[in-house]
Amino acid sequence: MSTKIWRPYTQEQTAAPALKIERAEGSYLYSESGQKIFDGISSWWVITHGHCRPEIAEAIARQSKKVDQVLFANFTHEPAEELAELLVERMPSSLQKVFFSDNGSTAVEVALKMALQACAQKGQEQKTKFLAFSEAYHGDTAGAMSASGQGIYSKPYRKMTFDVIRAAQPKNSKASVQEFITDFKIQIEKHHHELAAVIVEPLIQGAAGMIVWPEESVRQIVKIAREHDILVIFDEVMTGFGRTGHLFAMNRLKVTPDLICLSKGITGGVLPLGVTLATTEIFECFLSQEKAKMLFHGHSFTGNAISCAAAVANLKIFKSEKVLARLSEIEVLQSREASQAAQKLPVRDVRVCGTVAALELDIEDASYTSQFSQIVTERALKEGLFIRPLGNVLYLLPPYSATDADLREAWATLVRAAQL
Ligand code: PLP
Repeated sequence: MSTKIWRPYTQEQTAAPALKIERAEGSYLYSESGQKIFDGISSWWVITHGHCRPEIAEAIARQSKKVDQVLFANFTHEPAEELAELLVERMPSSLQKVFFSDNGSTAVEVALKMALQACAQKGQEQKTKFLAFSEAYHGDTAGAMSASGQGIYSKPYRKMTFDVIRAAQPKNSKASVQEFITDFKIQIEKHHHELAAVIVEPLIQGAAGMIVWPEESVRQIVKIAREHDILVIFDEVMTGFGRTGHLFAMNRLKVTPDLICLSKGITGGVLPLGVTLATTEIFECFLSQEKAKMLFHGHSFTGNAISCAAAVANLKIFKSEKVLARLSEIEVLQSREASQAAQKLPVRDVRVCGTVAALELDIEDASYTSQFSQIVTERALKEGLFIRPLGNVLYLLPPYSATDADLREAWATLVRAAQL
């Protein structure tokens, strides 16, 4: 590994050197030394139909010879237009406006800025705050970090962030859903006059440890927020594009937010792209003869044509191959394998939702920086499985190309790697 590279989320002094990957195909990565590695977490939750899907690669190649990148404030192009149409077609009818950015964090920043400015421009200047949940993770830029739980990820940067109203997340039982709703209502009743929006990762809080929320709790958040004239932002950066077994978590929940943030799997996980979808009502708050009422946000690579072409190809595969049906099978298999694995490890909780399955272990050091998670990662990698436990939470979030045999083998390896 080159000593010139500084890696993300890595303690360079103690981490093992990065493996050089020479080739990727389907659910597997192939190292320079010829090792075949199952991509158990879809390369940080981005890969959908498998690595190097020919349809996506060909769409990228075609587009790169046609229109590569243009300034999106002045020009448009076929892939962006087609993608906007395809996304809106798959959304509830109120979500009609597509704003492009580069990644998940920027999709969140845009949603926060849209909510704040929309409130101000419709005469609700006092609505300047956000409500977010404890242990949430919305990204690494300043606004996204502020909305994220104030844990280890954001502690060194506390001075860069702003305060939000913080609500506790629900625990997974009927009684505690009621308790959650009561607490949430109290927070909303206390702060509704100053709240522009509530931001939530619907159904699964990923980085918090794949915490699966009871569906009713998310529905109630939307209902209560609406009753108090507060916008709802769904951060579907991780849950989008099939992870929950539906194209979006909101399809599973049958509720509609005012803003939705998408990224990661949008391009099949191949190229960076972020999207924030907004309702027409929000969009119209920005229409004015006064230029200063525009949304002041844009990135150099907004609406990159090649990324959009990849995203169009990704969405077409969902349809042409009936991917969602396969995702239900993956959910059943993941549930079975996770329950069996739980018999062989000191497990406190088993969580499964869609293609995501997690085991929360009952061990002493449950922190993100725990030695245990580094050891398990290294042991699994030696056996050809790539995972990155979140502290004491071991999970698989496989590409949809994974076969039943791949998954069974991955769980067996995971169990061996996690032996104390
Ligand atoms: N929101 C959620 C729910 C995420 O899980 C992530 C990344 O893991 C982000 C936002 C940030 O996305 P990105 O890493 O592309 O900036």
